Amino acid sequence: MATAADLDALIACPQCDALHTAVEPAMGERATCNRCGTVLIAPRRGAFLRVIALAVAIVILMLGATFFPFLRVNVAGMKHASSVFDAALAFMDGGIMIGLSVAVAALIVLIPVLRAALVIYVLAPLTLGRPPLPGAVPAFRLSEDLRPWSMAEIFVIGVAVALVKVSDMARVDYGPAFWMFAALVVVSVLKDTMMCKWTIWRALDPTVRS
Ligand SMILES: [Zn+2]
Repeated sequence: MATAADLDALIACPQCDALHTAVEPAMGERATCNRCGTVLIAPRRGAFLRVIALAVAIVILMLGATFFPFLRVNVAGMKHASSVFDAALAFMDGGIMIGLSVAVAALIVLIPVLRAALVIYVLAPLTLGRPPLPGAVPAFRLSEDLRPWSMAEIFVIGVAVALVKVSDMARVDYGPAFWMFAALVVVSVLKDTMMCKWTIWRALDPTVRS
């Protein structure tokens, strides 16, 4: 029978499910999966601080990406600029579309911002060498659970594809918000690769910390 302590020492590869006994590598080293080479644990000095910086960048970029003009459409001399916020509001007036509008706003804007805010909440005290704030464990779990629902990058790809199709009919210019969304995709990927979940869970575990 495996005891709880034995199970705590195990780590499963997120790619191929191979089980390993977790041994914390030295700073800057990486523990990888024996079978497929996926990085399992990668503690890096100052990583928490960098993750926080990237999370703050995500919140700021998202504010700009929501309110700055996203597109300028030019059809036969008629110009129109529109932001993501305008687009979400445009759906608000028609009954059934309100649900769609809320869903779009949540998937594109709110969930990435919420995830960034949760990560800041969880990591900020750890960076300062303080104990985690109350609710840090459920906060980090929620942030990880929301990861598949964070759809800013899918939105950018969708828009880019749609614009290529529309460009036959109208002249479409990308507004500043489009480039902010593009930057957001890069920053989100950086943040998720920089963030070593194992190290964070371990830092949040009171039995290890004391
Ligand atoms: Zn593996």
